Amino acid sequence: MKLLENKVVLITGGSRGIGSAIVHKMASNGATVAFTYHSSAEKANAVAAAAAAENGVTVKAYQSDASSFQQSAELIKNVLADFGRIDVLINNAGITRDTLMLRMSEDQWDQVIETNLKSVFNLTKHVLRPMLKQRSGSIINMSSVVGDFGNAGQANYAASKAGIFGFTKSIAKEVGSRSIRCNALAPGFIETDMTQELDEKTKAAFLASIPLKRLGKAEEVADACLFLASDLSTYISGQTISVCGALNC
Ligand code: NAP
Repeated sequence: MKLLENKVVLITGGSRGIGSAIVHKMASNGATVAFTYHSSAEKANAVAAAAAAENGVTVKAYQSDASSFQQSAELIKNVLADFGRIDVLINNAGITRDTLMLRMSEDQWDQVIETNLKSVFNLTKHVLRPMLKQRSGSIINMSSVVGDFGNAGQANYAASKAGIFGFTKSIAKEVGSRSIRCNALAPGFIETDMTQELDEKTKAAFLASIPLKRLGKAEEVADACLFLASDLSTYISGQTISVCGALNC
């Protein structure tokens, strides 16, 4: 029996990077997978088709802006109509708008907080009622080691990711009595489009400070996600697992 057989998993931002690795990991472990994208329809449809064909499970992509409360409500309604339940929610969608505080615009602050942090509220808010009815569920929030350390040029991003830590612990305490778990992952420096955007000097500085002496792979974050999504972690809630090559020791 595969680890996620008979489970329905919803992932935000599954069209690229870590999210697309999570889609593949969940599908290869037997889950029915629903995932969202913001603008990359072509990539999202390709991810859905490949994950479904390789694993013989249902994988469906939905266009939905995670920063929109209304669209998040509609998404949960549509996924429930399509698949009947949601066992696992993975709040993965995220963006960066890096710049030093003196140059940061209100818009750059708002975009990052709304996409990275408000989205976690939006999706969790709407998935909780069906999970409460089921009396089970696992919610996994994608934070970052930057939420813990801070990083020059990323005050907006660090604030959004730090907010996720407090949110995760609070939800774990609110709904633990109904067997709903809520945990966070804190990746370090993972090879995706997001980190491609960093300048060479920043990348080299990161690399020098990683004890494992390499960048992480999206699949390695997806492995930690699988653990938290599955029944291998039924007594783990309110925690953050770092996937960072010992960067945060
Ligand atoms: P990525 O390659 O840039 O992919 C971002 C994903 O989020 C895409 O699927 C994108 O959809 C989606 N997305 C963006 N805005 C959205 C919105 N408003 N609504 C719905 N989906 C949206 O990023 P990544 O590196 O895989 O990062 C994934 C998560 O891990 C993020 O939360 C990020 O902060 C976190 N993280 C990443 C790293 C790293 O080193 N890469 C480290 C720590 C934490 P489209 O394709 O449609 O744009």
